[in-house]
Amino acid sequence: MTETVRVRFAPSPSGDLHVGNVRTALYDWAFARRMRGVFVLRIEDTDESRVTPEYIDSALDTLRWLGLHWDEGPVAGGPYGPYLQSERIGLYHDWAETFLEQGDAYWCYCTPEELAARREAARAAGAGTPGGAGTRGEAGGQATGYDGHCRRLTAAQVAAYEAEGRKPVLRFRMPPGSTTFTDLIRGPVTFDHMAVPDFVLMRANRTPLYTLAVAVDDVLMKMTHIVRGEDLLSSTPRQIAVYRAMGMPDEDFPVFAHLPYVLGPDGQRLSKRNGVVSVNWYRSQGFLPEALCNYLALLGWSPGGNRELFTLGDMVAEFDLARVNRNAAQFDVRKLEAINGAKIRELAPEDFASRLVPFLAHENLVSDPPAPGQSALLERAAPLIQERIGKLSEAPGMLGFLFVDETRFTVDPADAAKVLTPESAGVLKASIGALRNVPSWAAADIEAALRAALVDGLGLRPRDAFAPVRVAVTGRRVSPPLFESAELLGSECTLGRLERALATVSQAETVRPGR
Ligand code: GLU
Ligand code: ZN
Repeated sequence: MTETVRVRFAPSPSGDLHVGNVRTALYDWAFARRMRGVFVLRIEDTDESRVTPEYIDSALDTLRWLGLHWDEGPVAGGPYGPYLQSERIGLYHDWAETFLEQGDAYWCYCTPEELAARREAARAAGAGTPGGAGTRGEAGGQATGYDGHCRRLTAAQVAAYEAEGRKPVLRFRMPPGSTTFTDLIRGPVTFDHMAVPDFVLMRANRTPLYTLAVAVDDVLMKMTHIVRGEDLLSSTPRQIAVYRAMGMPDEDFPVFAHLPYVLGPDGQRLSKRNGVVSVNWYRSQGFLPEALCNYLALLGWSPGGNRELFTLGDMVAEFDLARVNRNAAQFDVRKLEAINGAKIRELAPEDFASRLVPFLAHENLVSDPPAPGQSALLERAAPLIQERIGKLSEAPGMLGFLFVDETRFTVDPADAAKVLTPESAGVLKASIGALRNVPSWAAADIEAALRAALVDGLGLRPRDAFAPVRVAVTGRRVSPPLFESAELLGSECTLGRLERALATVSQAETVRPGR
């Protein structure tokens, strides 16, 4: 029997989850599901200065919204909890104690100033290259890292430091040699410990550092695979050293897979400086979770046949870490937008309508949930824009004219300036006349009446004929289809808006005599 795959996503929520985090979460989740394994969510919040409860909640909310549900973790619970590192401090202290007793860790009393001064001196002495002058201990560290100063303090030295009131940090004693592991994406990777200085496990205030907490938890939570960003590749030899100190045999180590970097449009790592990274921002702009998952999946992986549109279910069916690209992937917001448009078109009409509600409610166009009358109107209006918008946030602008009462209805001033000119008075007048006499207030009759009056009657090209009507009725030059819009708006409002537009353009004419 093969052992159950256990994979974790372990964010340190010091802000909204960003695009890179979520790509990692998605791959963790897809791998777990593909292997019929367990997807664990662990919150790495030991650095209290950065992580706040709001950001933890926001991370959980974002993952749920994306559909990346976890089997073990906060709220869900599980046999290896708690899943918030801040609630596991005692475990880290216990292991720190064990490492001290075993000689795998030692107290370091050096102050930051002393460390900096010695580094400077070592650099000046030309000891910055591995194998250079012996300023380090028997292993662990080069002149740019820690020099091993406190590896073998005498009792008298310790007493003197203590008498000075120094508060030590706990360092791990990196053994000599090197670490090699086979990364599922990158192949064999070797780190010479010359480049891995003795690292801090616990701060002077006894809070654990990432490397201690992450390694202890990956062992205690029985992780079989660690799928995470390439930025953490260099911390792997430290984590493996901690696994060994915990007594884990090499054959039980989790398998590592480090995902390629995500780059911004300028080829630098994606960050706030070269793009928008907050997934909540994309959510607020009306990107669908289906589109984000689909697009983020493509940052390093693609299904067979290089299909570009697929569902989470398709991804699970085909996902394979061995097929993840090791080269960095570039984030392209235009491609995300194109995928979002395609996903919007794929939604069932009722589903599409219901996803518009928060966006319309945000602009006070409907209540959330919508009143019965609003629901009925939305159900008929949504299909008019499902083929036309790229993001849900475009809906209020497109549909607002249907949901506002006449006192709130406004015409876009720029569109009015272009189209509702004094010259449009004739079109508006003819439209009003035609629409007063339509046989029924249905799109087809409205269209026939307007065509007869404007195209046949006034001899206008359809574009010139309908633009003033469209702006007068919907408030914008870009709107849902005009005749269906008028039908939904109703005859009273449609005629009222045309009449007010006519009054406005006629007034403009009288104050501009001589035109
Ligand atoms: N907490 C780390 C981070 O947010 C990730 C830890 C890991 O995956 O090993 O960057
Ligand atoms: Zn020291």
